Amino acid sequence: MKLLIIGGSDAGIAAALRARELNNEISIALLLADEFPNFSICGLPFYVSGETPNWRDLAHRTEFPNIEVLTNHTATAISPAEKIVHVTDSVGAEKRMAYDQLIIGTGARPIVPDLPGVDHPLVFPLHTMHDSFRLHDRITEKGPRSAVIVGSGYIGLEMADALVHRGLTVALVGRSPAVLPTVESKLGRLIEDELRRNGVRVVSGTAVERITDTGGGIAVSGGGGAAIAGEIAVLAVGIRPNSELGAAAGVHASENGALCVNRHMRTNVETIYAAGDCVETWHRILGANTWLPLGTTAHKQGRVAGENAIGGNREFQGSLGTQVVKVFELAVARTGLRDAEAAAGGFDPLTTFSEHYDHKAYYPRARKLVIAVTGDRGTGQLLGAQIVGHWQSGVAKRIDVFASALHHGMTVEALNDLDLSYTPPLGSPWDAVQMAAQEWVRAFKSAASTPGGG
Ligand SMILES: Cc1cc2nc3c(=O)[nH]c(=O)nc-3n(C[C@H](O)[C@H](O)[C@H](O)COP(=O)(O)OP(=O)(O)OC[C@H]3O[C@@H](n4cnc5c(N)ncnc54)[C@H](O)[C@@H]3O)c2cc1C
Repeated sequence: MKLLIIGGSDAGIAAALRARELNNEISIALLLADEFPNFSICGLPFYVSGETPNWRDLAHRTEFPNIEVLTNHTATAISPAEKIVHVTDSVGAEKRMAYDQLIIGTGARPIVPDLPGVDHPLVFPLHTMHDSFRLHDRITEKGPRSAVIVGSGYIGLEMADALVHRGLTVALVGRSPAVLPTVESKLGRLIEDELRRNGVRVVSGTAVERITDTGGGIAVSGGGGAAIAGEIAVLAVGIRPNSELGAAAGVHASENGALCVNRHMRTNVETIYAAGDCVETWHRILGANTWLPLGTTAHKQGRVAGENAIGGNREFQGSLGTQVVKVFELAVARTGLRDAEAAAGGFDPLTTFSEHYDHKAYYPRARKLVIAVTGDRGTGQLLGAQIVGHWQSGVAKRIDVFASALHHGMTVEALNDLDLSYTPPLGSPWDAVQMAAQEWVRAFKSAASTPGGG
């Protein structure tokens, strides 16, 4: 059997490794358009910042035993009837590669908004290794002193941190009312405070309308405010699925272009599977498909696709959108649904915000965590959580406790029954997660006992 995989990043490599783990006999070939198989693009901000000085260290792995990895090979078309992929190789020659089973893991592309000036050479997107080389070289060779970042999602935030680390003065312009619109704006504002503490000029609620040349730099303007000037601009306004190849082969796609797959990562076209940022994601709480492009999800979906393409029967267990980002001294994490997302999903959400120490206050360096908990007023089911706190105060560990509880469909109250670890320098007998759950339960019960409040 010939398994052919298009895409050599998280999804494609996870698929190849799983298939090889399960079967050492089949032939596995993997092609990727660039020369960076299994590099961690999640690490690009840290290469640009200089914290990871050698880009080669971003390789998740460099050995792919018994897997034919074809770099600089671009798939240009798929003919499902003949089971052939048309490929342009590294020297521009056309090839036809036959397959028995095919997995598409072509990822995503950065959105380039249709704005005057967006193609200015001083505007840098950040999605691929090559993007990072371009930006890194510009900073190293020309030493710009200032930058404007367009987009205040997690990549924009990581880039603000990275560029301050490189000594630049940074302005961050975002369309949403507060930075990081994937968390409640109350928490977004805490992140804005942290950005300002570190010298970043934050301009939220501003849709950029144009980028103009200032002679040696650029200026970003929009929303009626004054233009914000910088010597370079970084564009981080989101991504969209890189799915045209699959769609042209007859694979159904959703409205936003993500390829449709079932929970076996199978598409509607026989013998074609797909995984990662180019596909829809089954959401474990909503019980429906959505699009949550994350490295964690791409790895899991790729593994499922790799297993099923060679005859397995594994189901993708669903995504919760769990993520964490470090912004200067803070870490911000979320899992599950925000209040508005839960309401849109047909739940009756109640969200509480509370503050708890990460460990016993009598032990040095205890720090407050701000925790939002969202649960359903009808059933008490946990629907989501978000945490902001010092990056060394166990934010990621704690969001993962919430994520595990969500995965298992627990109620908020049941969080109190978890046997979590405790020693005074690291926690409390009731962990911060449980204290936040108790706050939610108090609000839930008080709403239920208030006439008209249930
Ligand atoms: C700056 C940055 C930071 C991030 N940080 C995080 C994080 O902290 N946590 C997290 O979970 N996620 C993070 N992500 C998201 C994560 O990197 C992606 O979700 C993940 O890389 C998706 O993997 P993928 O394999 O689906 O696609 P991609 O990584 O986009 O890879 C696509 C692959 O397909 C190949 N390809 C595309 N078209 C063709 C073609 N026609 N022919 C052949 N090959 C083709 C490409 O060469 C590449 O190998 C970050 C992303 C970025 C850009």
